[in-house]
Amino acid sequence: MTSSYWLSEERLGFPERERPPAGPVDVAIVGGGVTGCACALALAEAGRRVRVYEAREIAGGASGRNGGFALRGGAHAYDAARRDLGPEQAKGLWRLTERYLDRLEGLAGDAFRRTGSLRLAADPGERAELEAEYEALREDGFAVEWRDELAEPLRGRLDGAIFHPPDGSLQPARWVRRLAARAVEAGAELREHQRVESLDELEADHVVLATDGYMHGLLPELDAIITPTRGQVVVSEPLERRLFPCPHYARHGYDYWQQTPEGRLVAGGFRDKALDHEHTAEEEVTPLIQGHLERFVTELLGEVPQITHRWAGIFGTTEDRLPLVGAAPGHDGVWVACGYSGHGNVLGLACGELVAGAILGRPAPELELFEPVRLLAV
Ligand SMILES: Cc1cc2nc3c(=O)[nH]c(=O)nc-3n(C[C@H](O)[C@H](O)[C@H](O)COP(=O)(O)OP(=O)(O)OC[C@H]3O[C@@H](n4cnc5c(N)ncnc54)[C@H](O)[C@@H]3O)c2cc1C
Repeated sequence: MTSSYWLSEERLGFPERERPPAGPVDVAIVGGGVTGCACALALAEAGRRVRVYEAREIAGGASGRNGGFALRGGAHAYDAARRDLGPEQAKGLWRLTERYLDRLEGLAGDAFRRTGSLRLAADPGERAELEAEYEALREDGFAVEWRDELAEPLRGRLDGAIFHPPDGSLQPARWVRRLAARAVEAGAELREHQRVESLDELEADHVVLATDGYMHGLLPELDAIITPTRGQVVVSEPLERRLFPCPHYARHGYDYWQQTPEGRLVAGGFRDKALDHEHTAEEEVTPLIQGHLERFVTELLGEVPQITHRWAGIFGTTEDRLPLVGAAPGHDGVWVACGYSGHGNVLGLACGELVAGAILGRPAPELELFEPVRLLAV
């Protein structure tokens, strides 16, 4: 009951390859989620010897436990990003994630559906915020649509919405397993069920920490600035009706839901009902949040659905809600790519590849915004 629906899908196994020789590698990656696998694929394709260490299974962390939303942008709304990051930086970040949505579509096969997404207004205050985001996106030439009329069962219950055409829906575990399989085909070595206890045990020229919210003790100063944050999810049995053709989110993302191709309702959120309590690395569901989720899906559907799966996952939040990607100050050869603040499905792919590019001596200009040194002083 408390395991991820996404991870329960049968896994096809990774391509059989001759076991790579033990001993030193060029790059050791800690964490086998979307970030670690994207980084491994890029480095292996560039001819580097790469080894991924994953304490559990590939996608066993947040990458296989999330809501399955693949959205452009990051943790900020676009108008807030223009204000907080600056207009050019905001535009650059949104363009980067749009490019990576295209990249994801090219790699993910049937694990990704380009459905668009709906950001909904729960009340007039949120509607005003959505209107500001809509105007900012339009001004800067991004595809976006305003929706006043919502389909059943939302008609009359919410205060309008923004439709984001480039977004989509993921079966995230299938996607990241597929990404890992591609990395293996390109020559990367995966070591699942192997927890790294200390960076000293890694024989590699470079080490990449791709542990997002799950990093405990490998680099204490990083632990100090990444807040582990818990998200909880429920999944229903397949519904008879097709109600939600794309990912939906309201109340600033605190409520989110979508329907899978088999008709299951996947709903998560309500962290705001116990914010302090949900800043934790304990990967377990709680009666309080589960109660909110059950009442929410019952109200949404007008009937009590059979819940078949419920689980928790941990993501890493930074103070400015931007990821940390690049060299770890004061630690030669150590790199980080983490801290997506709950928005890592597309950003994780982007940042895994960007950190690989930096290791290969080709740092992309987009990395400036994510410089670890802004929060991680030496
Ligand atoms: C409930 C929930 C809902 C979410 N919904 C969305 C969403 O809809 N859209 C979105 O974009 N983002 C969402 N997120 C965030 C997103 O899932 C993450 O940002 C993203 O998966 C991060 O990927 P990652 O590869 O960096 O980290 P993870 O996928 O967390 O991978 C890190 C891995 O590191 C491993 N690890 C840690 N320490 C060690 C060690 N010492 N040795 C070896 N391995 C180690 C862990 O086992 C883990 O598998 C959600 C997160 C949660 C928890």
